[in-house]
Amino acid sequence: MIELGKKVVVTGVPGVGKTTVINGAMERLAAEGIAYEAVNFGTFMFDAARKENLVSNRDEMRKLGKDVQKRLQQVAASGIAAMSTDANVIIDTHSSVKTPAGFLAGLPEWVLRELMPDVVVLVETDPDQILMRRLGDASRVRDMEGARAIAEHQEFNRAVSAAYAMYTGCTIKIVRNENFLLERGIGDLVDVLR
Ligand code: AMP
Ligand code: MG
Repeated sequence: MIELGKKVVVTGVPGVGKTTVINGAMERLAAEGIAYEAVNFGTFMFDAARKENLVSNRDEMRKLGKDVQKRLQQVAASGIAAMSTDANVIIDTHSSVKTPAGFLAGLPEWVLRELMPDVVVLVETDPDQILMRRLGDASRVRDMEGARAIAEHQEFNRAVSAAYAMYTGCTIKIVRNENFLLERGIGDLVDVLR
């Protein structure tokens, strides 16, 4: 039997520190001889969007019309599926994207069919911590919203992730990335990747 790699989708609201937790977990696993490839879904979308001159930075994508976003999403999903690797893969993405037209599912049925994850991880922390992280991040054009709105986005991410579990049979793992406790969050992610 061919042993296929594990596919883990890692999600979380902007600024929660997904990429930081992923990088930390990959480093620890590499030290144990467990290799993961990390794929950033937004980068696949951005490469397509830039070619069409739709945006000049990745944070402009969630403001595009919803049909354009869905098309870019499809391009990214099939591009990632075409990588057809038998390695373990982490996909850095979003359970939902906050757009001017409302929450857009990050993994609608046609995306899930391409990715078929074993696990969907939700990286979360307290909304006020996320607010402070966004304020301190000059490298991105983060949305400025209150702690209430961030809490609501995290709640929606849990709700929509339940649908992903129903569709694929994947498990849902919540990993907290709390202030001063990054190493604990990394450890919790390592546990599902190992
Ligand atoms: P990130 O670097 O993870 O914040 O992703 C950058 C942008 O890519 C996000 O703000 C979204 O516009 C887009 N994006 C990433 N993943 C998805 C997805 N699964 N569905 C729709 N848009 C996505
Ligand atoms: Mg990121």
